Amino acid sequence: MTSKEDLANRRAIEAERIAISLARQKGEMRSEIKGGDETVAWVTEDLCIGCDQCTIVCDDNAIELYSKEMKSPLLDVPSNRKARILKDECTGCRLCVLACPTDAIKMIDR
Ligand code: SF4
Ligand code: SF4
Repeated sequence: MTSKEDLANRRAIEAERIAISLARQKGEMRSEIKGGDETVAWVTEDLCIGCDQCTIVCDDNAIELYSKEMKSPLLDVPSNRKARILKDECTGCRLCVLACPTDAIKMIDR
């Protein structure tokens, strides 16, 4: 059975792979997104599908997922999640913006 340590190691390796890949593939795009110390990431809740990609690439533990009830009372999905940014931890690196498949994250002034 896979141990927690194995999973943590695999997650770390995957995070590095994604970060390198994103940096390569989207280098130009990244340079066009504002970032740095004076900025902080922001998640538009309605666009977030809780896919966890942003938390994987964030090296600073600046993103957490929280549970959110579905808007329709007919759907009961206990695993529905949304991401939120921890402002004090965010370094403005922009990786999460590049990783998000739904363009739910943007950089705003701090
Ligand atoms: S901008 Fe960087 S540090 Fe801030 S939440 Fe996104 S990945 Fe994490
Ligand atoms: S990558 Fe985007 S859609 Fe996925 S959890 Fe993060 S903010 Fe939400």
